[in-house]
Amino acid sequence: MAMLKTAGVEKTFRTRAAPLHVLKGIDLEVSQGEVICIIGPSGSGKSTFLRLINNLEKLDNGKIWIEDNLLFDCRDGVNAVKMPGQERARALLEVGMVFQRFNLFPHKTTLENVMLSPMHVKKLNEEEAREKAEMLLTRVGLGDKFDTFPAMLSGGQQQRVAIARALAMEPKIMLFDEPTSALDPELVGEVLAVMKNLVESGMTMLVVTHEMGFAHEAADRVLFMDSGVILEEGKPEAIFTAPHNERTKQFLQSVL
Ligand code: ADP
Ligand code: MG
Repeated sequence: MAMLKTAGVEKTFRTRAAPLHVLKGIDLEVSQGEVICIIGPSGSGKSTFLRLINNLEKLDNGKIWIEDNLLFDCRDGVNAVKMPGQERARALLEVGMVFQRFNLFPHKTTLENVMLSPMHVKKLNEEEAREKAEMLLTRVGLGDKFDTFPAMLSGGQQQRVAIARALAMEPKIMLFDEPTSALDPELVGEVLAVMKNLVESGMTMLVVTHEMGFAHEAADRVLFMDSGVILEEGKPEAIFTAPHNERTKQFLQSVL
């Protein structure tokens, strides 16, 4: 079963200057347990693609399925799939997202940050939510930081809280948008270690990253995105050692 499928996904930003055709027809199928890394130059549409999947951005054209459930079938911004907003929102809870900036609530402790959504959205009681949050924070190596506020944590620790917070909603697929790009180099490893642990647990993952080592090691498939299209895709060995496309070669030369 495909955990996630997109067909002909297109997005244009109507800016004050010329319209910006940012995604030009993205077709992707992600199987259960599959780990896909998306690489590509800045501005190629990687973040927009993840944001569309999560409904943080409005789709212009194309279709998006989550677990074989067609949620969007859009033409010129009009969705032909009629379903109650609540039902769509529930389906979208299967998708967790971790951003480059951690977006933690600054006035809440790590434990509270992780407990919040399960209590408010999933209606867990406080005790259940606390138990789950403690378990997840321990899993990401923050078992001693339950009562700490985000400002007292390093960037790597904050990003691990953000991962725990996403996992607390029990998503079936996790989207990561350059989760280590805002971190000091010495903190990147601890976040990647948590992500590798997640890969090993069988999580389905779609990861936008510039960490080629991680992509090489963890990905089942690597996609190279450029100017709103997937120019090349394949197993990491193939993409990293014998890319076919000239643009892929150039990009890899510039980052490796
Ligand atoms: P990437 O993540 O690959 O760097 P993005 O998806 O963030 O690329 O952006 C793709 C292009 O769309 C960029 O040129 C960016 O400036 C533009 N863009 C992104 N979001 C918006 C927006 N809300 N309004 C206008 N332009 C945007
Ligand atoms: Mg981006």
